Amino acid sequence: MQCSAGASTTLKGQYMWDEAPIVLRANKTPSMRLLFVSVFFLAASPAIAFEADVHHGLTNWLALQAGFEPEQAHIIATFDERVDSGDTPFIDVVGLYACLAKDEISARRAGEHHFPSEGSIPGPPETREVVPNSRAARKAALEAIEVSPSQAQYRLSQLGEALHVLQDSWANQGIPTLPQLGEATSTCDSSFAWGHSEMRGGPASHRADLTVYWPMDTVAMAQATYEILKQYPAISDTRRSARSWQEIRQELDEFINASTKTEKARWFVAHGINDVSFLEGISLPDGAEAFLQHWPDRKLPPLRSEKSSQHAVEPALLEFYNRFFASWLATKDFTALVKEFSAAADTNEGTAATATSMTSQELESRLKLWRLNDHGSVAEIALRREPLTTEERASIDAIANRPGAYVSYAPPSSAYFPLLPQGGHDVSPLLPFFVGELAPAAGHPRAVAVTKFRHAPYDIVGVVAEAVDGRWRVTSVVSTVDH
Ligand SMILES: [Zn+2]
Repeated sequence: MQCSAGASTTLKGQYMWDEAPIVLRANKTPSMRLLFVSVFFLAASPAIAFEADVHHGLTNWLALQAGFEPEQAHIIATFDERVDSGDTPFIDVVGLYACLAKDEISARRAGEHHFPSEGSIPGPPETREVVPNSRAARKAALEAIEVSPSQAQYRLSQLGEALHVLQDSWANQGIPTLPQLGEATSTCDSSFAWGHSEMRGGPASHRADLTVYWPMDTVAMAQATYEILKQYPAISDTRRSARSWQEIRQELDEFINASTKTEKARWFVAHGINDVSFLEGISLPDGAEAFLQHWPDRKLPPLRSEKSSQHAVEPALLEFYNRFFASWLATKDFTALVKEFSAAADTNEGTAATATSMTSQELESRLKLWRLNDHGSVAEIALRREPLTTEERASIDAIANRPGAYVSYAPPSSAYFPLLPQGGHDVSPLLPFFVGELAPAAGHPRAVAVTKFRHAPYDIVGVVAEAVDGRWRVTSVVSTVDH
């Protein structure tokens, strides 16, 4: 569902529709590439919280119950949802602001958008505990409802954005952790980091994002959202009539317990919301029906090419990754893909193998996994740092054998969220993936290409490669949660 022309006009009047891409800020030293990359191994997950079923769908429905017109409810929900990687001002990557760039502004912004607390940045995690519905969590929402009635029709975007952090205060409650991916966490600074607390399932899982695990918290979050919506001033002197909370509460259980996209979609359709495209990419399995819709309301610019023209990367390495990604996104023969691009530890190329190399089997399963349309069914496995079990590899194969299992993109460039590294002296154009150097292993140069696929919007994937005698080979695939 696109915003209607009227809604867009209204929105443009109140908010700058920023079409700039996702920004990865580098620090400004010559060794920025190494720093850039290390982030994805040192730390993960910028901001984890409820997903689009809550931020868009539930918010939209609650606004309708509170008496907002459909177009108004849609604006509120769209701006709530865009706080999660739907627009540039909301992209803050913890590995940069907490590990490498030590960017206080970015770290503060991540807190304001997803981790409301009374503590300050920098500051020990214990001083930055997130408390549901706290003063910090409600601050933006209370400001949003203070708008003068004459401005009320123009400030629905602020209301939506403010509801996001209020809702996240339940998902992100507790003492923030230092998210991590890979063995090296020592260079990260916990006084900058926001990762969801151990009591919500820890940093390497989507569990905190899913309503089914937190029924009482979801009810409390919905009630607080509803109370704020009801208090928003009348628009154009039109009084809204809101349903009672008791009535609404009774309808929530099914929403909360829905554990597949199919079940979530059915709940919304049964409750008058027929466009459920916003459910694209949430970390739940498709369920009974394949989910193939696309949410059209992100404000991100298209890439001109699927090939990276990133500056300051060794041409042979860039060419290697361009060939690899083109093949990866087109193939259905992952055995051949691994054979062509990898020097896995269990091949006879002993000198190429390092302790961090995956086996061919592991690599094949991982590469296959990231091409599955039904990413929600493998979302937890995808984040696993340990080698996949035989059963897990078999379940990936079972999903891959379904008709239409693999995602395909036309044009290929539409597979990616556009990335724009900033802060260096030589700014590259928009990129489908970002290539950076890693510390050498056993004397062999190493690199990683990091990307974010459209069908897995809550994750980032990194492809690690190693050069032996000048020849690049893929050695492993890594990933982290990313909102
Ligand atoms: Zn969030």
